[in-house]
Amino acid sequence: MAGIEKLSKQVANQISAGEVIERPASVVKELVENSVDAGADKIGITISEGGKEFIRVLDNGQGIASSEIELAFSRYATSKISSIDDIYSLTPLGFRGEALASIAAVSRIEVKSRQAEEESGVRLEIEGGELVRREKAGLPAGTEITVRDLFYNTPARYKYLKKTGTEASRISKLITSLALASPEINFTLENQRGVVLTTPGSGNLADNIYSLYGEEIHDNLIPLNFSREFLQVSGYLVNPRQHRSSRQHEYFFVNGRPVKNPFLKMAVEEAYGTRLPAGKYPLVFLNIKLNPILVDVNIHPTKKEVKFSRGEAVKDILQQEITQNLKKSTGYQEFSGTETGSYSVQDDYSPRKDKGSTGSEKQQNLFAGENFSYQQIESTDYQTSDSRSLSESDLFKEGEISQEAANKPDQKSDIKSEQQSDISLPQDYRVLGQLHNLFILLETGEGLLLVDQHNAHERIIFDNLCAELEETDNDSRLLLTPLPLELSPQEKEIILDIRTELEELGFSIEEFGPSSLMLSAVPVFLEEESGRDNLLDIINQILEKARIIEKHELSEEILIYSACRQAVKEGAYLSRAEMERITAALFQTSNPYRCPHHRPIVIRLSLDQLKKKVDR
Ligand code: ADP
Ligand code: MG
Repeated sequence: MAGIEKLSKQVANQISAGEVIERPASVVKELVENSVDAGADKIGITISEGGKEFIRVLDNGQGIASSEIELAFSRYATSKISSIDDIYSLTPLGFRGEALASIAAVSRIEVKSRQAEEESGVRLEIEGGELVRREKAGLPAGTEITVRDLFYNTPARYKYLKKTGTEASRISKLITSLALASPEINFTLENQRGVVLTTPGSGNLADNIYSLYGEEIHDNLIPLNFSREFLQVSGYLVNPRQHRSSRQHEYFFVNGRPVKNPFLKMAVEEAYGTRLPAGKYPLVFLNIKLNPILVDVNIHPTKKEVKFSRGEAVKDILQQEITQNLKKSTGYQEFSGTETGSYSVQDDYSPRKDKGSTGSEKQQNLFAGENFSYQQIESTDYQTSDSRSLSESDLFKEGEISQEAANKPDQKSDIKSEQQSDISLPQDYRVLGQLHNLFILLETGEGLLLVDQHNAHERIIFDNLCAELEETDNDSRLLLTPLPLELSPQEKEIILDIRTELEELGFSIEEFGPSSLMLSAVPVFLEEESGRDNLLDIINQILEKARIIEKHELSEEILIYSACRQAVKEGAYLSRAEMERITAALFQTSNPYRCPHHRPIVIRLSLDQLKKKVDR
């Protein structure tokens, strides 16, 4: 029998790395927290393959002295605490002095750093914890750490990583919360395709919320500031008319650090209480200052959970203040039971507001880049002359459009304020005809608009489905004959993994033998197209999407997919009446310029452009 042996340093590091470094997001967290601690006001994060392949964090902080850089990568080396008491002051984000050593043990690292006062910087390469290269380097002040091939030498650990999309979305959630915690820092997260998110670093939390959550949330912020007993709180609540289907958007920062704590959650959720529909959660962004003595951060190795020694008291105070504030700023609007009607669509119509995704925000951003001007439109401009003859058309139900238009009196002004810089919607137009069964041609005061018939119709249906889903919430419809789904073990696991989300939407799924599931109900919004083949297609689509997107984005994906299937195809002949209806309805949607997949819908050719072509 072998005697007791001390583990080699490297193995010991690899093992304990597992405590701190579970996945790419943990690497990002440690590196970014170090950058924050180093006083940076600009931090750039670049990842590829969800961070599995590549993570780079670049900051303009104080840098690491070249004489100390090796030390920084050895275990329990930290410049941040000198005595154990300091741990309770919670000011620096990191203090255990093991993150860099842990990351280095399970990846290939390149570090470049220079302190402002040093003449030149230093560059190191470290592989699996071993220094393989060290050189002087001319660098700007600050630190850049690149981590490649995470877990390349611990394949068992690598196997537990999730698909790229999941890991990537963990990272973007993490950066969102770190950025919200530090509004004075300009954060940018990029992946292979470009910038994922960026914050201005203006020092203003509301600016940050705007850049991360978009205009709609920003416009619904309710400031919360108070100081009572040992508790000081500042930040924002969000009007309960905006809500999400997960807790993920309840942010608490204790003494400047994103934390989780059951008392804080309870305080918020009980205060919002019946103002939210069942199963919905509020958005809040709260900075909480507490006497550090009352906070114990050490219960979780990655320091996310905190424990308060006076949790109940914290909860009571916070809950009272939030309740008062909500009452004051929203009036007493209880959300009454199952009737979504009490939060009438009329009050704040926005078909996408509930989707919990950044989709609409993305769209707004897309638009911000387009330098067209928007003109307000009168709904009468869209009354087509022969609207009576359209009721036969299977494109829309006539009543729907006009009723929907009537239901959203603010819609036009909303669009106006939100999308000032859009391509201008025509004051008046005339349908000229169809081009190659692909585009609807419109003559406008300014020139010519080409409307992509499929994309346009997709947008219209998608908005209708969203509104319907909002109205009916998660109603489901039982299938006459339950549909058996034959699935591979992995596929079955995927579906079971997202079962709650699917059930929230209105699907009902039972396990049925080792390799199959039984679908017994579907959301009401799928009614029109619930033929067996269609349902199977939708399930396949869900399976495919579930691999790459977050659970909460699924409902939107399903709607997009259904809209796409129902929309007129390219190549389909359209009667004049159908063209009129599509155009009229399109200009009433939440976004007439992009289909739900963000593809453009309208191409504009101005008279000027056309005249130039003929040298006029
Ligand atoms: P901790 O953050 O717990 O101190 P780490 O292993 O994360 O431990 O970092 C070790 C030390 O390396 C830190 O205490 C700090 O002195 C230095 N360091 C790490 N990253 C940076 C950075 N981006 N800028 C300046 N110093 C850094
Ligand atoms: Mg650290």
